[in-house]
Amino acid sequence: MINIFITYRCNLSCPYCFARDLQKDFPQDMSGETFRLLLNWMRRAGVNTAAFIGGEPTLHPGLVQMVQETAASGIAVTLFTNGLSPAELTEQLIPHIDNFVINCNSRSIYPSESTFERFHDNLRLLQAKGARVTLSKNFAPDDLDHDYLLETAQSYQIKAIRYDFSRPASSATNTFFPAEKTGTLMASTLSFVRKCEELDIKTGLDCCMKFCDVSPEELSYLRKVSMKLTGICHPSVDIHPDLSASYCLPMRHITVDDVTEFSGVDWLIYHFSNAVREMRFKNTDQKCNTCPDFMRKCQGGCLASRQPAPTSNCNSTPTIA
Ligand code: SF4
Ligand code: SF4
Repeated sequence: MINIFITYRCNLSCPYCFARDLQKDFPQDMSGETFRLLLNWMRRAGVNTAAFIGGEPTLHPGLVQMVQETAASGIAVTLFTNGLSPAELTEQLIPHIDNFVINCNSRSIYPSESTFERFHDNLRLLQAKGARVTLSKNFAPDDLDHDYLLETAQSYQIKAIRYDFSRPASSATNTFFPAEKTGTLMASTLSFVRKCEELDIKTGLDCCMKFCDVSPEELSYLRKVSMKLTGICHPSVDIHPDLSASYCLPMRHITVDDVTEFSGVDWLIYHFSNAVREMRFKNTDQKCNTCPDFMRKCQGGCLASRQPAPTSNCNSTPTIA
């Protein structure tokens, strides 16, 4: 799967967001002309799943046409959204979207009661139309609550939750877990996953974890029940509105100027994997040096969290855009 960031504009200001500093670098949405170039490349390059993401992709006026053309090309479309689109727009999107991945924030993130209601109206609409929905949650240091998330999943009979720990934005101006603190959230994560299992809700951890943050028994449990769980990350392939692309947004500096210059997605992934090869061995914990799992199963945590400044500036006060 590749991720297409068609706009970095957003109508929320989540403190943990790692795309928050991208709007100044990419003030323009992806144009229709640029999207056509990308779609032609996706057809040639063997892309079979594309995620539309942002920012908030439903703010892009051309979204419906983009997803329609993508789906018509035989490429499955995932939409990452905050679930605040107007009902008419949601209805127009449903026929073309294979999976709505909806960010489910705690109540305090929504600026008003009406915004919060719109989020729930959309979940009701998607349920009524039989659309496939995955809830999404980014746990942040000041936001580990998950009870409301389970209630929401149960209310709308949603059977899958994608979750992650907040990662550092390239400027580190968001709230995120510093590399040495990821262990502290695992108790909460395990409790969350266990409750999900009891409710027959599948979970998947989006990016990598440190395997020694949990006991061997807990790791074995997480591996057994998770849709996705890894200790070594692979390139996320995040395509910006101008067709440049990054390994992932937190590792934005690992970049290519134009994805369409690559003959296939495999080459792009190969290029990004090569670009971070040396980094995987840098700034690791001392214990990783003697760990038998190092670089066999576990890379010692998120590469972006192990970067020197500015991402090491993890105590910076979050700036709300
Ligand atoms: S590689 Fe490092 S972080 Fe991963 S399990 Fe081993 S010691 Fe822990
Ligand atoms: S460096 Fe790897 S683990 Fe960290 S955010 Fe990027 S893809 Fe995820």
